[in-house]
Amino acid sequence: VRVLVSGANGFIALHVVKTLLEQGYIVRGTVRSEEKGRRLEERFREVYGSKFEWIVVEDIAKDGAFDDAVRDVDAIQHVASPAGVNETGDQSPDVYIKPAVQGTLGILRSALKFGHNVKRIILTSSTAAIWRLNVTESEAPVTFDETNWCDDSLAEVRERGSKAPMLAKYSASKALSEKAAWEFYHDHQKEVGWDLVALLPAMVPLTDTKSISGLPDSLGWWFRSIFQEQPDAILGLGFGYVDVVDCAAALVAALQKDNVGGERIIISAGPTTFQDTRNLILSSLKLSLPASALTIIRGNPSLETKPLYTYNAEKGKRLLELEYREPVETYRELVNWVLEKGWLN
Ligand code: NDP
Repeated sequence: VRVLVSGANGFIALHVVKTLLEQGYIVRGTVRSEEKGRRLEERFREVYGSKFEWIVVEDIAKDGAFDDAVRDVDAIQHVASPAGVNETGDQSPDVYIKPAVQGTLGILRSALKFGHNVKRIILTSSTAAIWRLNVTESEAPVTFDETNWCDDSLAEVRERGSKAPMLAKYSASKALSEKAAWEFYHDHQKEVGWDLVALLPAMVPLTDTKSISGLPDSLGWWFRSIFQEQPDAILGLGFGYVDVVDCAAALVAALQKDNVGGERIIISAGPTTFQDTRNLILSSLKLSLPASALTIIRGNPSLETKPLYTYNAEKGKRLLELEYREPVETYRELVNWVLEKGWLN
């Protein structure tokens, strides 16, 4: 069985590729350049031989970008989408929205025309497509589920355009691309041999790309929020999270279950706050660090934390039979990795 994974060199996609290969699938990854393709090929060659193949898709937003990529594949994992900070300085929401929407519609159109063997398409959406950014303390905790959409972000982007916060632009890009996918699917359901599933992962802690300064901003923010000095307002901030390994396992499980066609499914291990995360790291992991570094990580242990919102992740647990790693597992790997990089010295 051959699976196409778009944006195969990305943080989440790389784990999806690895999980698929481990389970015996043949994987075709799309990447933006030959160099990225060759690098991935080298990475997987020793263990998986020719079971990893790649194809260049320079710009997912271009018409017909995926026409060749979808031929002879049995399933598609559409993961590529602008996920980090845009470094061109262009503040237009289109920087996020255009590639997200056109890339999603593009891969579905190519599958309609040339994906004659495709049985399922899985879209990596995000809890950013359903959350509300303006939850107040008095409402907390608000629980979001698969019936929600991020209407406040959509309105913000519509009304304020370039002046809308980056997170609202990103949320809008995820919601609009997912909405476009569902519309396309419902319009063409009778003509295609595949069904559509949208997975909505919560925040996936940190990435292993580049250096700390070159991290996508959302992830650099994550690092700073846990390992650097922060005011209580940041320490108490709540978010849903999921380990990248569990996220990849969920995306692969979504390929394998008969009963998930047509569903949107939240993937979240649970809510936490940065202070709770710090408390857990310090109480569960042995860190051989200078006292000054430990003091910084300690943050404000007496802070009362209450996440403003949570996700109802029951549907995913039931339909995909997901089991989430204990948070300490996630953080153990993360902390070891941060230590290895020498970022806390
Ligand atoms: P990465 O930035 O690591 O990966 C994004 C991938 O998309 C990269 O391969 C990138 O290519 C590719 N890409 C982006 N824009 C284009 C474009 N215009 N043309 C071609 N390729 C493009 O992000 P993540 O792994 O974190 O995110 C992957 C997906 O998961 C995204 O859809 C994101 O919205 C979603 N998601 C992420 C979460 C998180 O916390 N990280 C949480 C929930 C959902 P290149 O490397 O060449 O730039």
